[in-house]
Amino acid sequence: MAHSFSDWKGTVAMSTPNTMRAAVAEQFGPDVTVRDLDLPKPGPFQALVKLHASGICHTDLHAVEGDWPVKPKPPFVPGHEGVGEIVELGPGERSVAVGDMVGNAWLWSACGECEFCRTGRETYCHNAQYGGYTVDGSFGEYMLVDTRYAPRIPDGVDPVEVAPILCAGVTVYKGLKEAQTKPGQFMTISGIGGLGHLAVQYGVAMGMRVIAVDVADDKLELARELGAEFAVNAKDRDPGEAVQEFTDGGSHGVLVTAVHPDAFGQAIAMTRSNGTIVFNGLPPGDFPAPIFDIVLRGITIRGSLVGTRQDMAEALDFYARGLVKPHVTACELDDVNDVFENMRKGKISGRMAIKY
Ligand code: NAD
Ligand code: ZN
Ligand code: ZN
Repeated sequence: MAHSFSDWKGTVAMSTPNTMRAAVAEQFGPDVTVRDLDLPKPGPFQALVKLHASGICHTDLHAVEGDWPVKPKPPFVPGHEGVGEIVELGPGERSVAVGDMVGNAWLWSACGECEFCRTGRETYCHNAQYGGYTVDGSFGEYMLVDTRYAPRIPDGVDPVEVAPILCAGVTVYKGLKEAQTKPGQFMTISGIGGLGHLAVQYGVAMGMRVIAVDVADDKLELARELGAEFAVNAKDRDPGEAVQEFTDGGSHGVLVTAVHPDAFGQAIAMTRSNGTIVFNGLPPGDFPAPIFDIVLRGITIRGSLVGTRQDMAEALDFYARGLVKPHVTACELDDVNDVFENMRKGKISGRMAIKY
């Protein structure tokens, strides 16, 4: 029987090993363990990906520490900003080929059939799988992706630099859209970490007048370099008052990416009447919300979870066109626990990413 070249190419790459090194959360606690794991086998619609890089998101730290009400099941491999090349395809898979560069994301897959999936709100699918949370993620030399959901990485880009777009970038880009703030209006970003330093850049690229709030002066300095017009250290000054004063009546939009509940309550005082606050940050805890203020000033408060596949394509396109540039420092898989420790202390500038 004759086989054409195209039948043969693109199913399995040569010389894939049987095991890989991965950072595993064995139980909830401060650390992951780097050890050998069997390579997973791609099923229908899946591909096996050899990682080139993975960003380290604060969500990975929440996952490993078991911070949230809905918890992952240890042992698991965190990581949802993975970028790599396809080395093996699942049975029948034809939408991608061996050698293609793809990523994993928090939205690893969704059911495709429910009300949320049918109406372009797939991130709220009740049967969604989350990369590095309900499915093993990108803190290992290999990972599986669902080819129907895996982001396609633009040609020729640096895997380390693009990695943070896959969670931090798409999340804040979607969050900014949800704030319905127009070009020329004020957008305050609270929390200038991995997410926030990209939010400043997306906000500027979308024509907004960006204000930065954080509790660390070096983060605020970075925000100014990236185009923020005004920066407030919430430790030194009441951020509500400072933003009200600078904007002469409040910020039209506020995006909270901070990892402390205080920032969530403070957002209300920063907002202009009829403005919209979007919450991206997910620290465990609650915040006090003044009912009178919210009603009399007609303020909208909404949550926003990552972004859809279309949001992802758009967020990557901003990067490919040079409108946003993640501030990334490369590290090794063995450094993950040190990165987590620095993250807890708020000592990371921009994003850290594992380079494989
Ligand atoms: P990060 O650690 O890189 O940055 C957090 C920033 O918050 C730091 O700059 C820190 O100085 C700042 N901060 C701490 N306390 C503050 C305060 N009181 N006021 C203002 N700023 C303060 O974290 P990250 O990777 O950017 O993630 C941020 C949060 O967003 C995490 O909780 C993460 O789980 C969440 N997240 C949510 C989504 C989503 O889809 N909604 C996606 C990704 C991450
Ligand atoms: Zn669904
Ligand atoms: Zn993330």
